[in-house]
Amino acid sequence: MKSNDGVTKQTHRRWHVAGSVMAALVAVVIGCTTSDAPPAPSEEAGGQAPAPMPASSTPGPAPTPAETQAPTPGDARPVVRGGVGTWSADAPVSRSAGDPAAACTDCDVIVVTMCSVRRDHVDVYTDRGLTPSIRTIADGGYHFGTAYAASNFTLASLTAILTGRFGSSTGVVGWDKGLVKNIPTLPEVLGLYGYATAGFTINAASGFRPEYGLDRGFQHLEIIEAPSDNPDGRLPSGPTGSALSAQPMVRWIKDQPTSQRIFAMFHTRTAHFPFVVAPPTDDPTGIGRLLWGDDLTASMGDEQRPGVVGGTAVQGVGVSTDPNRLQHALMRSGREGLKAWRAYYAESIPRMDADLGAVVDVLKQTGRWDKTILVVVADHGESLGDHGEFLHGDSYFDSVVKVPLVMRIPGLPGNPQALDPLVSHVDVLPTLLELVGAVAPAGIDGQSMVPMLTDSTAEIRSTALVEGGVSWTPRDRMRGAVISPPWALLRQPVMCTMGTPEPPPGPGEPFKCLFNMEDDPGQNRNQARNQPAVVDKLQARWDGYRAAKQGSVVPTAVQHDPAFKDLLRKSGYFNASQPTP
Ligand SMILES: [Zn+2]
Repeated sequence: MKSNDGVTKQTHRRWHVAGSVMAALVAVVIGCTTSDAPPAPSEEAGGQAPAPMPASSTPGPAPTPAETQAPTPGDARPVVRGGVGTWSADAPVSRSAGDPAAACTDCDVIVVTMCSVRRDHVDVYTDRGLTPSIRTIADGGYHFGTAYAASNFTLASLTAILTGRFGSSTGVVGWDKGLVKNIPTLPEVLGLYGYATAGFTINAASGFRPEYGLDRGFQHLEIIEAPSDNPDGRLPSGPTGSALSAQPMVRWIKDQPTSQRIFAMFHTRTAHFPFVVAPPTDDPTGIGRLLWGDDLTASMGDEQRPGVVGGTAVQGVGVSTDPNRLQHALMRSGREGLKAWRAYYAESIPRMDADLGAVVDVLKQTGRWDKTILVVVADHGESLGDHGEFLHGDSYFDSVVKVPLVMRIPGLPGNPQALDPLVSHVDVLPTLLELVGAVAPAGIDGQSMVPMLTDSTAEIRSTALVEGGVSWTPRDRMRGAVISPPWALLRQPVMCTMGTPEPPPGPGEPFKCLFNMEDDPGQNRNQARNQPAVVDKLQARWDGYRAAKQGSVVPTAVQHDPAFKDLLRKSGYFNASQPTP
């Protein structure tokens, strides 16, 4: 199943790239910098936006064409087919010099996004010994203690990382929309500064695909068949080994001339559900065999999947009233089944870490290790029965949206302590661009984290948004979270507290959960009824931001080919009973 269908795609790509390069160029010409690009409206001005702290008093830059352009009907909807291929784009290539005074002007840049990886399974945040390669990357580098994903599922989170914008700014908040062509991406900007740019992932329901517009700016995008050390590839026969997902990126880095600065992004799915890559041999609860089985998704009724889109979200093992086979097994096996589920997840983490190990090795072999900015971040976490939920895509509890974020930056001293001020996925883009002396596009929501690297208490934002989800919802009932320490407001289809009766929300309305993250880090006490003023303030801040962004872009609607729907189903994402794009 090849997706790189020659002429049509190339034409489509040129049009894509032309618009976004124009926007990026305008941003460069007008000289806006990350630090003087305030999100609008500011918190101080209207109490409505996810404003940075401290707010800059510098007037904002002129809007780019992308912001002023009236909404227009999108192109014909791309059909998301899935499949493997290599796309070689006419993405921007230039030799513009970066700011020579920047911290890392000549550095290479590598971003690894880890699907479904929880903070409490990453060694720099714990001592479980599951991620020695991430430990190597973090040694002498930085890790962030309060980093939030921009969404609870892959496509929307990757879009935010690539654009520096929250979902309401790009419109990519569900599986049905792709990135509009006139929003600049990180590889596009770096291409303008002379970087060779490449993206890598496997054929799976990640959304890191040309049809979703996430190929934009990558001169080389490579999607391979899911390998056998990856849960997506557990059934086909194929080469065995470890770190197989990382091999295309390893080969590409080896092929680059040493004088060529490179930007590569690699999305690893090795820790994604269903976690297992071989038939379990010691499996008294039967959970392993259910996860392994190729009949797993077939056995899961369309109405019931454990804690995922459109299904009957399991409010605690044993509470579901109409369980499927997997839920039955979990209920029958009780705590032992839950333990087994968690153990299979934990086993997937070292396999995923091997992907990181391959990246470290090739950087050392090619002499790039000491001149590479390396970012390792989860696109979202994973529920392992936390709050009665499994997987991801529905709730916005910290187990899913508070993510590990590690950075290694040559020339900077590093910090063995976590940097605790609030940061977001959207801050990755402006941080990287500032470090290499490049100018960030206008209109982004991200704030550079560079001030935190020299002063670990420096705050760059008061609020972060988490938007969208895998279940389809009307645009006026957006689900998500507003994170503003010490508060977190969650608007989700999942109940706030297990076992505590809550008044049901109105039809189609999400639950309203408010947690104080200082007093209640486990998010067990919903304060929404006790603190209505806080709820109103955070909701107004989110509403104001969304109102400001409304109509500024028209996201590209996509259609799903049946084969891609099947990929979504196998990842637990798709429900035949819900409206489909
Ligand atoms: Zn993911």
